[in-house]
Amino acid sequence: MKNLKSLNELIENLQKLPTIGKKSATRMAMFLVKNKFTAMKIANSIESAITAIGECRECGNLSEHELCEICMSQRENKLCIVGHSKDIILLEENSIFKGYYFVMPELDNEKIEKLINMINNKNIEEVIFGYTHSIENEAKIMYLEERLKDKNLKFSKIAQGIPMGVNFENVDITSLYKAFRGRVKL
Ligand SMILES: [Zn+2]
Repeated sequence: MKNLKSLNELIENLQKLPTIGKKSATRMAMFLVKNKFTAMKIANSIESAITAIGECRECGNLSEHELCEICMSQRENKLCIVGHSKDIILLEENSIFKGYYFVMPELDNEKIEKLINMINNKNIEEVIFGYTHSIENEAKIMYLEERLKDKNLKFSKIAQGIPMGVNFENVDITSLYKAFRGRVKL
């Protein structure tokens, strides 16, 4: 399809999306060029979403405002540290946790300062490490616990029900719920 430069480019770009291989990308591109109205709607939604959505100033969650809905609301004095903002969506959709969140993908001094501010501002009493189990995450937990040790906090991490190295999104909701309920004190 040498003469269809823009179609090839679309196929190539669609393959940058997670889980999309060449076959799906080709199918999608063909659909889009044949259904121009739907294609324009999708293009517009992509543009508005990427323009409107940023990160909450306090917790790093995805938000259309400076502060996200969760940080603005009155919740339990608990804070769950997660690796991705998509973990928050999953936990919220299933009402698994009723406290606040903090997104910390990698250890980062600026983020740790923000975390400490949030713990102070929200009178946090318990910090739950919502990381799945991996050697790397265990190291993160140990480091963060050390940094927060003078805050008089209870620490816990989600229970071992979740297999090593598996992402939240690939865990069934019952296991995730159990992992939170059965969280282990550190
Ligand atoms: Zn927030």
